[in-house]
Amino acid sequence: MNVTPVIPRSTQTLTRVGVIGGGQLAWMMGGAARDLGLSLIVQTPHGSDPAVPFAADTVLAAIEDAGATAELAKRCDVITFENEFIDLDALSVLAQSGVCFRPRLEALAPLLDKFDQLCQLRDLGIPVPRFEALTRVGGDGDPDIDHGLGYPVVLKARRHGYDGQGTFIIPDAETLARTWAKFGYPPMLLQEFVPFERELAAIAARSVAGDVAIFPIVETVQEDQVCHRVIAPANIAADAAASMDAIARTLLKGLDVVGVFGIEFFLTADGRILVNEIAPRTHNSGHFSLDACETSQFEQHLRAVCGLPLGNPSLKCGGAVMVNLLGFEFAKSDDLQKREQLAAIPRAKVHWYGKTESRPGRKLGHVTVLIDADNPDIRQAEAEAIARRVEAIWYEK
Ligand code: ADP
Repeated sequence: MNVTPVIPRSTQTLTRVGVIGGGQLAWMMGGAARDLGLSLIVQTPHGSDPAVPFAADTVLAAIEDAGATAELAKRCDVITFENEFIDLDALSVLAQSGVCFRPRLEALAPLLDKFDQLCQLRDLGIPVPRFEALTRVGGDGDPDIDHGLGYPVVLKARRHGYDGQGTFIIPDAETLARTWAKFGYPPMLLQEFVPFERELAAIAARSVAGDVAIFPIVETVQEDQVCHRVIAPANIAADAAASMDAIARTLLKGLDVVGVFGIEFFLTADGRILVNEIAPRTHNSGHFSLDACETSQFEQHLRAVCGLPLGNPSLKCGGAVMVNLLGFEFAKSDDLQKREQLAAIPRAKVHWYGKTESRPGRKLGHVTVLIDADNPDIRQAEAEAIARRVEAIWYEK
């Protein structure tokens, strides 16, 4: 891996990084940590989790176990996250006693709940789809659902949603009532259905010094609300890319955060750009950067949280396509034969997360294939053809 040289700017450079979560994101941080001469200490529930074999040290405990995070804090200089399903109140006590979290916990607080996050984005002047909180008022009986967002409408769990789990596209009032009742009427989020033309994403990083670096805007392709493919760079007009760049800058500066953030956008047919949601961490839409960019999003995140200058996020090739390898059955297979077929595709790199069990929809790995074409239309067509080839091998379709 090519790594931009480490040039510590001050004595504030931190070298022992604690990561809450030991899944594939922490695993991919592992390679960058080694190349930067940093040690990674992970807090994760299972010894079989992907990052454990690559971590310098592990605290085996649940993500939300703040007692375990206190132990993690003793072994590292800074703590960051690969997962936001944390117990923020308990972590705040640690922060008050001097533990350094990056991004800072006060900035994370409004981001962990999808409704609070949209309020925060709106307050920062960021364009978002219209939304409302769905809250039960009054006592027993079926509540009246009165909202002004029309149908279809999108119903979302406010917390702990990921990979489309907890997101429902609802065609009519009757289905909305039935779906909400099925969950027992918890507080949820309703969002206008955006008939987007494309979904796009930006990975943006902000350093301790306040510098911001943004990776090329990508197109993400979801099926059943789950990301299947990412095409980099997105084949979009320069002014649309510039608008997303500006939104990313406003966001990171407005939140006053350090680290990498994933920002998901809708682009409508009439050229409107709306932020769907943001993730306060490295993101699936940035995995292409491992092979296709001068600096990967994982190196960038470590640089930011350790107080190093940011690296160059530019592409080092014409473009790339990243395809997620999602589980399609309940199995213990390592799919070695298929991985070998994928690795034989010219300019392909297979990243296998080493999970011991597969289940439908679970992210088991990804493949990135580099593309040389400079012409955006040719690159797009090549990316789509390569994605079909990868998926034909992986899903045997
Ligand atoms: P998660 O946090 O689980 O990834 P998201 O809120 O990002 O869930 O939704 C997953 C996918 O569902 C999106 O990528 C998009 O394809 C679709 N989706 C979400 N919200 C909307 C919306 N308001 N309008 C249209 N489609 C949506």
